[in-house]
Parts: sequence; structure tokens; C-alpha cells
Amino acid sequence: MTHSIHGRSVIVTGGSKGIGKGIADVFAQAGARVAILSRHGDEAELAAQSIGHGAFGLAADVTSPDALERAIQEVVKRQGGIDVLCANAGIFPATRLEDMTSSNWDHVMDTNLKGTFNSVKAALPYLKQSNQGRIVLTSSITGPVTGYPGWTHYGASKAGQLGFMRTAAIELAAYGITVNAVLPGNIVTEGLAEAGPDYEASMVASIPLRRLGVAADIGHAALYFASREAGYVTGQALIIDGGQVLPESLQALA
Ligand code: NAP
Repeated sequence: MTHSIHGRSVIVTGGSKGIGKGIADVFAQAGARVAILSRHGDEAELAAQSIGHGAFGLAADVTSPDALERAIQEVVKRQGGIDVLCANAGIFPATRLEDMTSSNWDHVMDTNLKGTFNSVKAALPYLKQSNQGRIVLTSSITGPVTGYPGWTHYGASKAGQLGFMRTAAIELAAYGITVNAVLPGNIVTEGLAEAGPDYEASMVASIPLRRLGVAADIGHAALYFASREAGYVTGQALIIDGGQVLPESLQALA
């Protein structure tokens, strides 16, 4: 599987930290040429340097089609094209529905859902030229499968990505491009450390495999979707959560 990604040109949005950095790292280790995009170009470049293997970072806010266009042009200039887009950038500010403003809603939707659309639109002309075009979206279990207080907007954005994916997969099949999604459960990221050990322990207790995920768990799933061997798989959502969505009740975890 990893052989077929060797030399491929890959973009990871939101790759400067967390899950995106893990995806970028797994692809780079497998021999792909990786470009990391995030709002802060210096942080994207730092992440790229720590990953090595020729990875590089660029500034691009996924809410800005112009910024994405500039970054995509730079990737094409350096790598000659684009084979894989990992549309991963996302935010998850928590606000209860009763306190949520229209602007809170728009901020999350603009980044997570419209940002997905913007990223796909910007990369599409080059993915069409690839003989192995792949789009991998980072959705979540929250929204498509589960709910969590404070995340009505977030859950809607993550479920929306799957609606987008299914029709995009049909339309882009004409170009041999596949569109799939990874749905992470609770993944250890820099942000989670701030939530403290009690939060982490409570999450672990709800997971049958009794550990949180790591970014590489998501990276390996994305790598599968991007591989030549997954060329007949499109429009699919893969949950990577240690079994977290499975228990019917707390007793089921005993
Ligand atoms: P994270 O650690 O906060 O990293 C988010 C990344 O996205 C950073 O690189 C950030 O860099 C970038 N970003 C944020 N807004 C952006 C924008 N407007 N344009 C471009 N880049 C932007 O988050 P994470 O936990 O890894 O989450 C990554 C994805 O996984 C998200 O889509 C999230 O919904 C999903 N997810 C995460 C978990 C989890 O447990 N962590 C679970 C399920 C799903 P800048 O700040 O420099 O822009």
C-alpha cells in the first residue's frame, strides 16, 4: 500500500499540528511529497521541518479562496501538480445552543464546511490532471454519529462534510478522483493536553480499546484512502475511534 504513494504530491490543510500534522507525517514517511497549509505559515513550516522528507509549509486560510489559490499555485510550482488533497483544517469552539450567536455559527461553518468546499475547488483542476486523484476529508464521529454539548454548529459542519462527500464522489468519479472521509474519535493532540488528566481519563473510560487515538491512527486511514489500492473505494466514511461509538450503554463497557 505505501509504495503507491511514493513520490505523490500531497496537500494537508491544517497540517501544522494535531491530526493534520500526524497525517502529513505518515504520508511523508511513506515517501509522498507533502505540503502543509495553515493560517500561520511559520508554524506550518516548523511542522514541515520537524517531519522532514522534503515537506514544506505555506500560509493559507481555508476560508479564503484567494489565499488557497495562491498556496495551490506555489505547491504546483514546486511539485508539478497535486495528487492528493487532505482537507483536514477545522476548529471546534464550544458554545451551548442557547448562547450561540449567528456569528459563532458562521465561523465554524465557514472554516469546517465551506473551507472544505474552498479547498476542494482550489485543488480540483490539478487533481483532475493526476492519474490517481484522491480527496480525503477529516470529519468526526461528532455530528455524523454522536452529539456533544456545545457542538451543535461543529456537529452540523462535520455531518455536512459527509453530505458534500457523497455527491462530490459521484461527480468526480468521471475523472477517476475518489472522495472519502476519516471520522476520528478522541485523538491526543496538543489541545487535549490543556483539557487536563480528568477529562482524558473520562474519555478513555468510554472507549472499548481503553486508549485515546493518536494522530498516526488517522494518518494511516487517510493513507489507505489515498493509495492506489483504494482506487475502487469512494464516498465512504471510516470511523477510527477505538470502538467509542459501539456501546449501547455504560453497562456494555463493564
Ligand atoms: P488542532 O490541533 O487545533 O489543529 C487544527 C489545524 O487546523 C492547525 O494546523 C490550524 O493551524 C489549522 N487551521 C485552523 N483553522 C484554519 C483555517 N481557517 N485555515 C487553515 N488552517 C486552519 O485540531 P485537530 O484536533 O488536529 O483537528 C483537526 C481536524 O480533525 C478538524 O477538522 C477536527 O474537526 C477533526 N477532529 C479532531 C478530533 C480530535 O480528537 N482532535 C476528533 C474528531 C475530528 P492555524 O491555527 O495555523 O491555522
